[in-house]
Amino acid sequence: MSHVKHLIEKLSREHILTLEEYLAIITEADQEDTAFLFDKADALRRQTYGVDVYVRGLIEFSNYCRNDCFYCGIRCSNRNCDRYRLTKEDILSCCRVGYELGYRTYVLQGGEDPHYSVDDIADIVSAIKKQHPDCALTLSIGEHPREAYAKWKEAGADRYLLRHETATKSHYDSLHPEKMSFDNRLRCLRDLKELGYQVGCGFMVGSPNQTSDHLAAELLFLKKFGPDMVGIGPFIPQKDTPFGDQKAGTLEQTLLMLGLIRLTLPDVLLPATTALGTIHPQGRELGIKAGANVCMPNLSPVSVRKKYALYDNKICTGDEAAECRNCLSNRMARIGYRVVTARGDRIICK
Ligand code: SAM
Repeated sequence: MSHVKHLIEKLSREHILTLEEYLAIITEADQEDTAFLFDKADALRRQTYGVDVYVRGLIEFSNYCRNDCFYCGIRCSNRNCDRYRLTKEDILSCCRVGYELGYRTYVLQGGEDPHYSVDDIADIVSAIKKQHPDCALTLSIGEHPREAYAKWKEAGADRYLLRHETATKSHYDSLHPEKMSFDNRLRCLRDLKELGYQVGCGFMVGSPNQTSDHLAAELLFLKKFGPDMVGIGPFIPQKDTPFGDQKAGTLEQTLLMLGLIRLTLPDVLLPATTALGTIHPQGRELGIKAGANVCMPNLSPVSVRKKYALYDNKICTGDEAAECRNCLSNRMARIGYRVVTARGDRIICK
């Protein structure tokens, strides 16, 4: 057995490696090693989640953002971004459509849009929970004071997604303007956890300036933080951003990281993201086979889909919610997995 296979075997037993060991897998794994990794990761996810794929209905409700992240198409200084925001009624109507299609989790995602006050968001959260008390609600609206997170939790929000983007401070600083800080990002994640949210963090694979050491450090960060969910996807350039001419992250490296995350956090909720589906026609299927167990189809009105352009050539921007849902079910069935109607909470292994 190769050195790398030995390390993968060890990871699948112990669910933790040293930085050097993770680095060895990341830098040395060949095709046979990665096939071995994906088999182990898939077997482990099947132990807890079987062949179930949880779906979350994603509602991208505003592309206004006060931040200026160098990689993101909705950054505030992108003048070519055609801005929109949905009303509370629009959002509730997306949820109704989603409910009919079998969604039992909604993810409200948007830029950090100051138009919505803390109370406005709380009001939207409680209206959704009143309309669909059997559904879980996830917020993904960036960095806010602890008091705001507390208010939204009280209003009924169950989960919060906030990618840390990178676990290395100097790398974080190279991706963001000076007024954003790694420390505040981590403060937010800590607050969210303490307030009782199910928390998702995550990062882009292949973001500018990212090294193999950074990727190895991600795995130790995740192990230490212990998130309920980890959202990772390839970085994809958006032409109107400072990183518009940078290379995209690769399918191979993203799949490798998905497999390593599954073996490191056996019961974590792990999405095969839209970005993964954007860089390869079968990206999401391959992600599921590498250990992922969640997909997040779009529930936003088709009229605004193209405008939530974080990166170029994003998929599924023209399909109605029902088409997305059917397409995903068929894609998963073809590879032997099953989209399920459930809240899709994390199943915590003892
Ligand atoms: N404003 C919220 C936040 O900061 O968490 C949610 C929206 S933000 C656009 C969602 C995620 O999109 C980011 O965390 C980032 O990882 C991802 N993203 C942004 N630009 C991207 C790009 N060019 N390629 C891939 N992913 C990107």
